Amino acid sequence: MMMGLSMTCAASQRLVQAQRLALTQTQRAAIQCRMLALRMELAGALVEEQYENKRMCPHCHHGLTMLEQLRGFAQSDTDTLCTCPKCKHRFQPRLVAQTLGGTMEIILLCPQQTLYELRKPLVNGLEPTVIRDRHPAAYRGALIHFGSLTLAFHRAGLEYGFPEVYPWEDKVVPFLGKMSDTDIARACRVSEDKIRRFRKKKGIKAFRKRALAEELGV
Ligand SMILES: [Zn+2]
Repeated sequence: MMMGLSMTCAASQRLVQAQRLALTQTQRAAIQCRMLALRMELAGALVEEQYENKRMCPHCHHGLTMLEQLRGFAQSDTDTLCTCPKCKHRFQPRLVAQTLGGTMEIILLCPQQTLYELRKPLVNGLEPTVIRDRHPAAYRGALIHFGSLTLAFHRAGLEYGFPEVYPWEDKVVPFLGKMSDTDIARACRVSEDKIRRFRKKKGIKAFRKRALAEELGV
């Protein structure tokens, strides 16, 4: 009887703990939005570009979150419009890219449309800079959604033979501890272990979702 009671206590303690550890849906969504924004920022920083995602609904002026934007895409290879969650108006999200050659505005492709563009004949036979110039939307889509061209081609079921090597040490410093080592490693095309050691050397604590949720106040 005593034993049964203590087991029940332990089980309920575990339950309370699990409830405390579980993030709410709002927290998860807020974290996901922040992660998407940081991934976009890091992807740009590595190739010395800056991206601004224009996602205000032109009809009702609702500023879509990154998550609302991704969910609003049509799940189509070629229909690049996004549906506003508030008024259901469909509009074209755009990306403003500040590049070494100047500022340009391009269509923002969703992950599916990016892969569709990369699967077109011979695109994977082009060097990164050529893809950047000839397929500007697919290039940025690959960096933003997948971290690199190599990973995007891999997801598209294709091999990419060109190295994407960027000097990353200085560029990743602002992102250490704000994103997972895995995400940073993926964007830099280096091992997670390398990023972990680099972060520890800088005395920066590992990224924790819970700490971010607290920081975001959600
Ligand atoms: Zn709207």
